[in-house]
Amino acid sequence: MEKNRQPEVGRRSFLKTTGMAALCGPSLAQEIASGESRWPCVISTWNSGLKANPAAWAILSGGGWALDAVEAGVRVTEDDPEDMSVGYGGLPDRDGHVTLDACIMDHEGNCGAVAFLQNIRHPITVARRVMEKTPHVMLVGEGALRFALSQGFQKENLLTEKAREAWQKWLQDNDYKPQVRPGHDTIGMLAIDVQGRLSGACTTSGLGFKMHGRVGDSPIIGAGLYVDNNVGAATATGNGEEMIRCAGSAMIVEQMRQGRSPQEACEAIIRRLYNWRKEKLQGRQVCFIAMDRLGQTGAFSLRPGFEYTLSTAEGGHRLMKASYLLDR
Ligand code: ASP
Repeated sequence: MEKNRQPEVGRRSFLKTTGMAALCGPSLAQEIASGESRWPCVISTWNSGLKANPAAWAILSGGGWALDAVEAGVRVTEDDPEDMSVGYGGLPDRDGHVTLDACIMDHEGNCGAVAFLQNIRHPITVARRVMEKTPHVMLVGEGALRFALSQGFQKENLLTEKAREAWQKWLQDNDYKPQVRPGHDTIGMLAIDVQGRLSGACTTSGLGFKMHGRVGDSPIIGAGLYVDNNVGAATATGNGEEMIRCAGSAMIVEQMRQGRSPQEACEAIIRRLYNWRKEKLQGRQVCFIAMDRLGQTGAFSLRPGFEYTLSTAEGGHRLMKASYLLDR
């Protein structure tokens, strides 16, 4: 069953990733001094990172904040009409509405999210404003739109001709039944800056041709994204219903807290979900990327085909194939 278990990036010993390290192993300062840290670093889902990561890197390489980096990075994808799962040009729901979900989280546990937001091109920036300007974490639908407008965002039509044609073809072929897998391209991005501050962002138009009102994992803190600067961060793409069910990103961070490397943590949660759900995962994809507080990374998916983009000082921006659990 298990295929292509590729050498992971950055496997580290148990003690070095646990709270126990402070008691009986090297401290974070020692780990950094020993050269194991990889700051700054950016990882993002899919090949959209080849365009998005450089925008994040420009901020990190100038000594900037990881939060600014992830926001700037995923805004590139939100602007890109060729990416039909994020922002402008995203596939609509089955009624022809482009509805967007996004969340963002920093190294201090501050977070913001929007869901079911329409007609605003940069939901990630609205999510950041929710985090910074309101006492809340998440705004949805009409309320999120009203808040965005009050913050000076402009309403615009996000349905491109290409996405409208794809929707009309889908209507002809699919009899209005919502699908689970018309393709996944959500961008989730994790970054650590030169000061060791982790942040993450996740933004999507969700599953193409979903039911009107459907919200996936991407704007949900703990499911689509989680950051804990004492440990690490994780983000997801794939069938959001599954990531919500297993609280995927938060669980991966907990696995790292218990001593697993980012790679081992991603694998552990996908294995757990598979052992739990098995045939119910038929036709569904689940993918995670993770980064620990040293900037070591991991990626794993349930099925083949998941790619991610890794940016480091030594390696530049590289498209990588993730290892996976099942052979199809
Ligand atoms: N996770 C997203 C959602 O379920 C979809 C995706 O990754 O493409 O909304």
